[in-house]
Amino acid sequence: MLINDKKRIYLSSPHMSGNELKYIKEAFETNWIAPLGPNVDAFEKEIARYVGVNDAVAVSSGTAAIHLALSLLDIKRGDKVFCSSLTFIASANPIIYQNAEPVFIDSEPETWNMSPQALSKAFKEAKSTGNLPKAVIVVNLYGQSAKMEEILTICDYYNVPVIEDAAESLGSSYREKPSGTFGKFGIYSFNGNKIITTSGGGMLVSNDVEALKRARFLATQARDPAPHYQHSTIGYNYRLSNLLAGVGRGQLEVLEERVAAKRTIFQKYKQELAFLPGVKFMPELENTKSNRWLTTLTIDQTAANVRVSAIIQDMEKENIEARPVWKPLHLQPVFRQCPYYSHSEKISVSEELFSSGICLPSGTNMSTEEQMRVIDCLKKAITAVSLA
Ligand SMILES: *Cc1c(COP(=O)(O)O)cnc(C)c1O
Repeated sequence: MLINDKKRIYLSSPHMSGNELKYIKEAFETNWIAPLGPNVDAFEKEIARYVGVNDAVAVSSGTAAIHLALSLLDIKRGDKVFCSSLTFIASANPIIYQNAEPVFIDSEPETWNMSPQALSKAFKEAKSTGNLPKAVIVVNLYGQSAKMEEILTICDYYNVPVIEDAAESLGSSYREKPSGTFGKFGIYSFNGNKIITTSGGGMLVSNDVEALKRARFLATQARDPAPHYQHSTIGYNYRLSNLLAGVGRGQLEVLEERVAAKRTIFQKYKQELAFLPGVKFMPELENTKSNRWLTTLTIDQTAANVRVSAIIQDMEKENIEARPVWKPLHLQPVFRQCPYYSHSEKISVSEELFSSGICLPSGTNMSTEEQMRVIDCLKKAITAVSLA
């Protein structure tokens, strides 16, 4: 069968509710097409209220939000920043923008996120050489919260602030507290494939209202309060447009619905595929709720007798977009000089997840028939090779 015969199934495509148009229309009618405006103010308030923090700053991307957080913490040349290794490169790039040095920390198997054990080891070594990091960036992968209590206990002990990269985990919670609200700063992304989207955008959240005031200043070219254009600091052009904030407001109204739908998609995959040899779904830590942004699983190549890369190719033939798990940052050519702390001496969890992990299409606008196509494809790939 030809590829084009079948409608493409995407990993996670934007899913509008309809209400977004109402807010865009308002912006048009009042001619608020600028960055900033009433939709931006409202979107910030709505996110802050939803996750329960004092304030939020809407910006042009999740990456910009991380960059601002590092800037607010005065991260500069020569400073070290600890960062999860198993993540998208955007978690770490802003460290380089600040001319600082990333140190990568492995995952642990229960959440796939930062290993407290590896973090502890990195801190002990840093302390002994008098070279403590100035911040720790903790990522919540695919919607699953990291072991925040353990991680915060370690970071508090060394008095080092945490930036929570919750780009993938808006709508998730850890012990009933919303993901993204545990560190000194939290960030969300509204990129096209995230659980809710503004096509492109992000949010910086914190309980430190003064720091966020400064974030707004830095994000609008750091203009001093003077009638003429005066600048004593280098800033950025990082604010979200009022049109896109309108999209965000419409999306936030359906966030809970989207989380429920993502979790249903996960359950369906699990029910249909969990019995296959070598298949293991991404766990959900006790007392946490994942938004299940992407359904992710590992395939033991020996038990399933098939490589993940072959399955991804099979899916592509069926016009289905599946992806490997993020390639750990310590394995990226661009970061090859950076230190890395593995979960234990013998086990590098992020490397194991990278070689065995696969992300399945998890779009909330995917039909049941489409999901069955993905399921059938996976069943065929695993059974076919096992019989061979
Ligand atoms: C998407 C993502 C980002 C970056 O967000 P953008 O809005 O695309 O800049 C950062 N960290 C993680 C873990 C992400 O998935």
